Amino acid sequence: MIDGHADGYTGRYEVICPACGDDPGLSYDQVPPDLQKIRGPSQSVAGGLAAFHVHVGLADAAPTGAALT
Ligand SMILES: [Zn+2]
Repeated sequence: MIDGHADGYTGRYEVICPACGDDPGLSYDQVPPDLQKIRGPSQSVAGGLAAFHVHVGLADAAPTGAALT
């Protein structure tokens, strides 16, 4: 089960991973440095998803353009 996502509500695409203690209700500036490092953020959807895939270990398993819901 995938427990995080890349979120683009601020125009930045951040990897928010609850399994690592992150909280989607907190802004980038409100989370500890360790979580900021995980979040990125990326400047595009593709970049955010790529960072998320790397984080959860799917970098080599997920084909480019695969839907992540
Ligand atoms: Zn994580």
